[in-house]
Amino acid sequence: MADESINNGFYEKKYKIVIGLEIHVELLTESKMFCSCSTKFGEKENSQICPVCFGMPGTLPVLNYEAIELGIKTALTLNCRIPSECIFVRKSYFYPDLPKNFQISQYSQPLASDGYLNVNNKKIGIRRVHLEEDTGKLIHSEKNENVSLIDFNRSGIPLMEIVTEPEISSPEEAEDFLLKLKKFLKYIEVSDCNMEEGSLRCDANISIKPHDSKELGIKTEIKNMNSFKSVRKALSFEANRHMHLLNENNKVRQETRLWDETSQTTDSMRIKEEAHDYRYFPEPDIPPVRISRDTVEKISLKIGELPSEREKRFFEQYNLSGYNVSVITSEKKLADYFEETASFYKEPKIVSNWLQTVLLGILKEKNISINTCPISPKNFAELIELVDLKKITATSGKEVLLEMFETGKTASEIVKDRQLVQIQDKDRIEELVIEVINENSSAVKDYKNGKEQAVSFLVGMVMKKSRGKADPVKTKEILLKKLL
Ligand SMILES: [Zn+2]
Repeated sequence: MADESINNGFYEKKYKIVIGLEIHVELLTESKMFCSCSTKFGEKENSQICPVCFGMPGTLPVLNYEAIELGIKTALTLNCRIPSECIFVRKSYFYPDLPKNFQISQYSQPLASDGYLNVNNKKIGIRRVHLEEDTGKLIHSEKNENVSLIDFNRSGIPLMEIVTEPEISSPEEAEDFLLKLKKFLKYIEVSDCNMEEGSLRCDANISIKPHDSKELGIKTEIKNMNSFKSVRKALSFEANRHMHLLNENNKVRQETRLWDETSQTTDSMRIKEEAHDYRYFPEPDIPPVRISRDTVEKISLKIGELPSEREKRFFEQYNLSGYNVSVITSEKKLADYFEETASFYKEPKIVSNWLQTVLLGILKEKNISINTCPISPKNFAELIELVDLKKITATSGKEVLLEMFETGKTASEIVKDRQLVQIQDKDRIEELVIEVINENSSAVKDYKNGKEQAVSFLVGMVMKKSRGKADPVKTKEILLKKLL
């Protein structure tokens, strides 16, 4: 049963998998949905709360328009219909993390609906995008199982719910959908989509039906998955479980199940009631939100080119590989940085390589985001040009880049100060090669005994001697001649 592969042929021929996803995304606003409390993550428990967060008598929620704008950005990116009016409602239920006993959400008139996202050339329908407030967070004490603590800092953080149509047909497709959605949401800067910090959470519905059946099978809902990989694994597990049940003429029970990361299985959490009695009714303290075409147009201009359009253009205009395009267009700022650099040095493939393998590596090491990268695209382009035109070696190029970070100087200034100009002079390289051969007789012996790798070692020694300045291609040529 724990076998993850469901494509063993037999079941696949007999049954069709139907998956729908419900994704909750915390929006990147400074303040909460209905009050001015901060949304910053990781602060002291219950330090970012006020009477509005708790729905105390006499308080009034005030709508954060920034959240509406981020919602509209998402709706545009997901090709949704945005009606001219949306309505907030009260969803009543009792739970310890919800001191008001109701959540302000949206129901029959959400912010947007009827969209789609293209995943691997398949359109997956988006049923709705709506806005609501997050709840507090229950922390179950490890010391005493009878004790649960509640942190209300999360109460009232703007939350966006994205619901897909049940049109996803495999666990792998569900994972690809989530990867693409996350990429787009990060690109349009509506959420950091950090699953570890809970700013992106996903529940999944799955059912199985015989291929020839028109009716959907009975579905189960899976919760508690904390990575895209676990979403895929949990769905695979459930698909297998349903198929085994159906194949033995047993019924699937409609229920909510929890994914257990340790056992890699799902367990029944509760039998789902037929219909929840949430007693939805319009939130009396928040008037209907009118969204004019003008507002939508303005927000659309702010996004500019949609991530899907930009991806397509990058393929055509810069002729980059699929992998490179997907990395570079993963963030808007990164894509902007690339384009600006490539406008100064018109070798997009080389710029893309330096950006991905060198600059991003340094940024990651220094824990700096591309937004605050101290090296301007112009200066970065100059460095790439120096290496590409063989004025300096690639090794020196990396050192220069690090020094640019430290000192703020330009590449040409550093190259001049440190006299890093690549040694192209054959006689000078030959001198160095002879010294290295004399000093490393055992490596030379190894080479003569057929150990090819010894050459790389010897080239490395010449590079070291020249402090990274010898042209490595010429060095190797001369070295091979001398070793004959
Ligand atoms: Zn508050």
